[in-house]
Amino acid sequence: MNIPHALSRIIRHSKSFTQILDKTVEIVAKELELEVCSIYLLDPSENILRLAATHGLDKAALKSVVLSLGEGITGTVVKEMRAISVEDAPQDHRYRHFPESKEEQFHAYLGVPMAIRNRPVGALVVQSKQVRKFSENEEFTLHTICAQLVGVVENARLIHALDRPESAKVYLEEVIQWNRKSLARVPQDTSHGELTLSGNAASPGLVFGKTVFRGAYDLSFEGKSIESLGYEQEAQHLENALELTRDDILTIQEAASDATDEENALIFSSHLMLLNDPFLLEKIDLRMQQNQPAAYAVDEVFTEVGQQLEKVRDSYLQERVEDIRDLRSRILWHLLEPEGVHENLSNQIVIAHGLPPSLVVEMKVQGALGLITERGGLTSHGALLARSLGIPAVTGVENIVYMLQPGDSAILDGNRGKVILRPDRKSLAKHRSRAERLTTTRIHLQKLCHEPAESLDGVQVKLLANIGLSADVKQAHHYGAEGIGLYRTEYPFLIREEFPTREQQTRIYRRAFKTFPDQPVLFRILDLGGDKFHPLVSSPTEANPALGYRSLRMILDQPDLLKEQLIAFVEAAEGKTTQILVPMVSSIEEFLKVREILNEALNSQPHLLSTEVKLGAMIENPAAVEIAQDLAEFADFFSIGSNDLIQFTLAVDRENARVASSADPFHPAILRMIHRTIQAAHSRNREVGVCGQHASIPSMALLLIAMGVDSLSLIPNAIPEVKEAIRQARINDIVQELPAILNLSTTEETREKIQSLMPELEEEIEE
Ligand code: PEP
Ligand code: MG
Repeated sequence: MNIPHALSRIIRHSKSFTQILDKTVEIVAKELELEVCSIYLLDPSENILRLAATHGLDKAALKSVVLSLGEGITGTVVKEMRAISVEDAPQDHRYRHFPESKEEQFHAYLGVPMAIRNRPVGALVVQSKQVRKFSENEEFTLHTICAQLVGVVENARLIHALDRPESAKVYLEEVIQWNRKSLARVPQDTSHGELTLSGNAASPGLVFGKTVFRGAYDLSFEGKSIESLGYEQEAQHLENALELTRDDILTIQEAASDATDEENALIFSSHLMLLNDPFLLEKIDLRMQQNQPAAYAVDEVFTEVGQQLEKVRDSYLQERVEDIRDLRSRILWHLLEPEGVHENLSNQIVIAHGLPPSLVVEMKVQGALGLITERGGLTSHGALLARSLGIPAVTGVENIVYMLQPGDSAILDGNRGKVILRPDRKSLAKHRSRAERLTTTRIHLQKLCHEPAESLDGVQVKLLANIGLSADVKQAHHYGAEGIGLYRTEYPFLIREEFPTREQQTRIYRRAFKTFPDQPVLFRILDLGGDKFHPLVSSPTEANPALGYRSLRMILDQPDLLKEQLIAFVEAAEGKTTQILVPMVSSIEEFLKVREILNEALNSQPHLLSTEVKLGAMIENPAAVEIAQDLAEFADFFSIGSNDLIQFTLAVDRENARVASSADPFHPAILRMIHRTIQAAHSRNREVGVCGQHASIPSMALLLIAMGVDSLSLIPNAIPEVKEAIRQARINDIVQELPAILNLSTTEETREKIQSLMPELEEEIEE
């Protein structure tokens, strides 16, 4: 049985926290075939560990076993925050014997700490009658269980606390205390010397410099005791602070629209809406009427709303959480530091907890070097903005804020998602020369920009770009794209509460033709759901959003929305051929339905009827591959969306980092499917391209060209590298080997074979 899975079931079906713990110890003991499994929880008010549940020890021990931190083996596990395995516990000098537990009969011991970040929560302990060593596998399993259990314990405590204002205070104080303590404690191993840390490669670039901590975004009341000055005065303070915050946001919005474009500036309209939100303002007002100072009221209301949103598994709402945090801090800043001035960010690497878009804009305006954050993934608004403004960024670097000392320097490697804090001379020299190599390579590749993507034996292919923001169009052009092969249109929808109007859409889409007037621009119909939700049409609360109400299914239920978008595409093309991609097609009926709606839309706009419109099908699930031959009769062209094709064929959730390594594009099933799709398209004289991420891997790109694709659509900065590979290759050599490659039955063999056919490529071409 899969223990984490069983644990989820227990959590879902248990009626109380105690029941969850009892069932957990039982199931772990049973599944690992061990006599004892126990959970110890830390009572932070007294700093002691209590035995909270056990399977195998005498239940009488539940009332009496209490350990201080560092006492016994389990106390040591929690104090030192590390797993401890002992072959014969009663012989260990740390062993502390509780006769009522009858534990002397058990010898082998393994204890694993439970912690949230660095804050200890308790320990999970297993014991066995034999004298033996626990295996690495058993330890790994216990770590996995702890990781899951710790969230349950913490939630239970939070819920318990929220129901009782008194305990809420104690709980929050404890968390704050701990954070303070960990700030003070960290010195021994993380406050000096070089540290290499990993995170997400959110925005490319390799930079070096002094760091500056932008803590104002997580203002707290540490060291401040604030009394209400009376309702009238507090309300006045709040009004002033709100006004100043509005000014801040408008200034940032203006800077964003100067630095990028209208779409990015629009990110901040949701800030302004939140600032005027009557629901939030009323809640704050009510608290001030109850004699709370404005600062506490703002803090409580924004924190509460943020926490509620945080619980919802949805990227859209997660973005709002970052907005809410940002606003909370900005308002508090004006309430608590009326004379305060933010430190200048120029020529420094900014370190912050989160990645609010407003911070990214400020960084651009002030000329900061790069950004490292603790929170944030790859697709947050802040990360997208950093990419489109060319600010190198690494996100999700856990605890970096606590490791930082004032004035520390750092190397930020946004290509690889790495940070080196306090680099020593050797690291600096190594990275400096790497930066030089990257620059040389970039300059060399940039020269290829206007050269054709043609192999040594004369095979040509179109290299197009995948874009999501209109700012990306410039990038695509810069890297020598021959057009836009995939224009993901969701972004302008996601950054607004309301959908953009047809006119706004037309304006945005038209920019692509300004840069690529005579080249193809392929617009994709709105592809919401899966991982991109908009509250007006899709819901993240579905059990399985990737297979749920999404994409084409959703948009076909909204024919008016679809018509508006289709008209905007054709309007934007101003008489040029318009190419439209239909995402996630799984049946002919669906595809024909889109064509019918397109015809209705065009008939309603007689001035558009003379424009040629081509409707292409995206092949991104196994059903579409199976019916490709039939579909080619109705579709004008194909585009293979291999990101989703891999997800649905190999049954690997593309949003789940734990299974990402199973999503191998060199899997024989994927190669064979792509090959069949290309053949199906060509048998009906239809063009076919590939627009999934993996077309950006040079060896894969060459293989796809050998299979006969007419175009590849790539992330813009991968174009030079792929072009270089094509220009050094003999495609016909790969074509000769194609039957053999497609006959191989394992991913490893396929990779090896393809690698052996590749030209010697420069390594380290990453930007
Ligand atoms: C794909 O699925 O390969 C694709 C290009 O679309 P997206 O990544 O936007 O789902
Ligand atoms: Mg897709």
